Amino acid sequence: MPSEFELIARYFDRPARGALLGVGDDAALVRPGPGMELAVSTDMLIEGRHFAAGANPRALGHKALAVNLSDMAAMGATPRWALLAIALPAADENWLAGFTRGLFTLAERFSVDLIGGDTTRGPLAIAITILGEVPDGLALFRAGARPGDDIWVSGALGGAALALAARAGRATLGAAQAASAGRRLDEPEPRVELGERLRGIATGAIDISDGFAGDLRHVLERSGVGALVHYARLPKAPEFADLGDEQLERDCVLSGGDDYELLFTAAQSSRTEIETLGGGLDIALTRVGAIQPGDKLVLLDARGAAMTCGGGYDHFAS
Ligand code: ADP
Ligand code: MG
Repeated sequence: MPSEFELIARYFDRPARGALLGVGDDAALVRPGPGMELAVSTDMLIEGRHFAAGANPRALGHKALAVNLSDMAAMGATPRWALLAIALPAADENWLAGFTRGLFTLAERFSVDLIGGDTTRGPLAIAITILGEVPDGLALFRAGARPGDDIWVSGALGGAALALAARAGRATLGAAQAASAGRRLDEPEPRVELGERLRGIATGAIDISDGFAGDLRHVLERSGVGALVHYARLPKAPEFADLGDEQLERDCVLSGGDDYELLFTAAQSSRTEIETLGGGLDIALTRVGAIQPGDKLVLLDARGAAMTCGGGYDHFAS
């Protein structure tokens, strides 16, 4: 059985190209570029809460980092460095090999260095802290939305929640649909480049981790504004197309978590620029509504009738 230190050396100690000092000492050393602010965030994945026991370790490695990269994207920050605190039930080297393959494959794509962490024995839990850089004064905040701004969403919504529903037996999907929805849930694509390119364009931004409606409400509260959204305009994951379950689609699209798309607001004068940006990045960017004065989220169905929807995911909701 390898020791804790052997595990760290074998699986986590990789050259940190963009740091002054990486794994191996009591702390890492980093130096942000001149004129850069540090953006720092952390996100945790717990077995039985965020993923099922026996989940694929490679996908977990990907997702644990992806959800953190998504927070950087929502701030308009460029992710640079990550720390990994992990509790493992056993020194399972097959598991660690898969997990680190998923983690480092994604880290390398975005030139993120793993510069430290902590390894302990315990029920499987993964916490990553991410550090990124954003030019002084250009970070994107939840608080910047203004009346008259458009509301935009990247990609498509609801697919991750649909996969979860299918795995729980609440929806029946064909094999191809189950696989593609499953990828949205297990291996989300963080919208890092989009976040960077929205600096100076978006007035407000958040990543959709807890469901469109709940996350939009966070933007509205922080910005002190209301919104009008057209349900028919929301981009829905293609896996809903043949399902014919409107109620489930609505629940997943409005309140389903784990999509990790960006929701952002921008002045109407930015429309052409945003459309060009989406085309260049090959990411669908859809205008779904508008920011209004007040504090209400008004959601209209295809016939213009008001719809109700619950909040986003809340770990402590009864
Ligand atoms: P300390 O006792 O000072 O906390 P540790 O023995 O926990 O040091 O860790 C030794 C080194 O390995 C440190 O540089 C730490 O950041 C790094 N490290 C430990 N666990 C991980 C991990 N899971 N991922 C990345 N680096 C890790
Ligand atoms: Mg330690």
